[in-house]
Parts: sequence; structure tokens; C-alpha cells
Amino acid sequence: MRKKLLLGNWKMNKTPSEAKAFACASHEMVDFAVKHNIDCGVAPTFVCLATVLENRNPNLIVAAQNCNEHDHGAFTGEISIPMLKEVGVSWVILGHSERREYNGETSEKCNEKIKALLANDMTPVYCCGESLATYEAGKTKAFVEEQIKVGFAGLSPEEAKKVVIAYEPIWAIGTGKSATKETAEDTIAFIRGVLKGLFGEVSEEIRILYGGSVKPENIAAYMSEKDIDGALVGGASLEPTSFKALIENLAA
Ligand code: PEP
Repeated sequence: MRKKLLLGNWKMNKTPSEAKAFACASHEMVDFAVKHNIDCGVAPTFVCLATVLENRNPNLIVAAQNCNEHDHGAFTGEISIPMLKEVGVSWVILGHSERREYNGETSEKCNEKIKALLANDMTPVYCCGESLATYEAGKTKAFVEEQIKVGFAGLSPEEAKKVVIAYEPIWAIGTGKSATKETAEDTIAFIRGVLKGLFGEVSEEIRILYGGSVKPENIAAYMSEKDIDGALVGGASLEPTSFKALIENLAA
């Protein structure tokens, strides 16, 4: 039985004081999530990680939105895995479509980062998903299959099962145009099939989230689908009231 997971991607939002206010408001809602056997977390910007870690309910997962695959060195502007580990971060989002588009993050680079994170006992959240043009051309499955195969290249089944996947069709991110639950399930079940081909039965243990305009009003519908294990949420994760409503409706 895969444990449900709600992850908020804050992108480039919130100053440290705003992030602190959210963290301080997280205590009761995270207790509720724990009671309902739900994992939940947020991914603040790097400068907000420490304040969220210090002020949150200790069961709130705190993820970074990126990391560098090298431990240290001449990589100006980058943040390494040992740096994240020392401040107490243990999850990292990789390959978000915005980073793929604006920062040249490739599936090959994500594969290096996934391996480096796993070697440090950290949890990668690997994002995949197609553009509107790919979707309209009926090429979604071939596209995400390639992203999964490259991202997971060289992993053992034991390693693969520690990775969380977020399937996020780019045309649904921040647009208010969410995929139907049937469309999301169809692609996510396909991804699980690809994982089964690569890693066998552990594919049943890998958590796969849907992301793309998830709101408190539609999260329960996605959760009714058998292969969808939770959601990666942008806009609706920013305010404590909305985050709380996502948890409650996910638990329902
Ligand atoms: C995201 O940032 O990963 C995302 C899915 O955003 P939104 O929920 O705002 O569409």
C-alpha cells in the first residue's frame, strides 16, 4: 500500500518572514495529515529552508527545488547536497518543467542528481510531463517514457523505489486547465508500466503524483484513481488555509 503524499511547490514565492508564518501555521494541519496516514511537505526557496525547518511541525517534509550533483567546487550560484543535508533538508524536486525550460535541466542531468541524492539517503522527486504540442500530437506516452528511462538509468530496483515521480503535463501547470482524472490516470498507469518493465514488482511501491492546477476542489477526484498517489501543487499550496483544505480533501 503506497502512502499518500501532498507536496507544495512554492516556486519563487514567499520571503523568509512569509515562509515562517506558513511554517508556524503548519502544526495542526500536519498533525491531521499524520493521523490520516498522509505525508505532506513544502518546497520553499533556498533562502527560506532554514526558517521553515525551524518553525514547522516536525512532520512537515521540507524539500529543496533543485540541487547540484557535485559536492562542492567552482559552480557559482549553485547549492550542493551536503549543504542541504546539513540544514536538515532530505527531499529535492528535480526536473520541474520550469527548470527544464528556463535553466536547461535535462533528464540526463536529473539522472546524475538522482544518483547523488540516493547516495546521500535523500529523496528525489523527479518531474516529467509533456508540452501542449506533444499532447495534441498524441505523443505523450512516448515522451514521458523517454523521460523516465533516462531519469532512472542505471538505478537498481532498490534505488528506484526510493524515488517519487510527479507527472505534470506542462499545459496544466499554473493554467487552471487541469488534466481530467482519467487522462492523469491513463498516463500515470502507463508510467507505472514503464517502471515495471525496468524494475519489476517494485514498480508497485513507487509513488507517482499528479501535478497541474490541483486545487482543494479537485484533489479528491485524482485520489480516487488507482495509480495516483498524491499531488504536487503549486499555486494552491501557498496559503495555509488552502494547503489545509488540500490535506483534508485528500484524506476524505
Ligand atoms: C507546479 O508548480 O508543479 C504546479 C503543478 O503548479 P500549479 O499547481 O500552480 O499548476
